[in-house]
Amino acid sequence: MSTNQAPCPLSYAFDALMLPPGVSIEKTKRSKMTYTCKLCGACFARNSNVKRHVKEVHVNLRIYECEHCFSDFSTKRNLLRHKQAVHEKKKPWSCDECDYQGQEQWILNSHKRRKH
Ligand SMILES: [Zn+2]
Ligand SMILES: [Zn+2]
Ligand SMILES: [Zn+2]
Repeated sequence: MSTNQAPCPLSYAFDALMLPPGVSIEKTKRSKMTYTCKLCGACFARNSNVKRHVKEVHVNLRIYECEHCFSDFSTKRNLLRHKQAVHEKKKPWSCDECDYQGQEQWILNSHKRRKH
């Protein structure tokens, strides 16, 4: 194996973000499990944590994270819909002509078109 490591794909994502002038770009990885924010040097165990940190702290993007599967959502509504559909298995759209329930309105509508 050569000592040249393949560039981390995340580096490119970060470089695409606006770097304030004078900020040094840290490439330090203390171990394979340590990911460093290039903007402030904070260390994280997971690269998804760095991604969220950069978005929240440096880009001021509000991220809503599902506590069950750590998916990110840009709006609280999307997170709630995801949690209800995936984790709570809630199917809020119920057919008024039978017992069928659907996760989304369009699913219920297609059920009605096919079955009734
Ligand atoms: Zn940072
Ligand atoms: Zn989830
Ligand atoms: Zn029905």
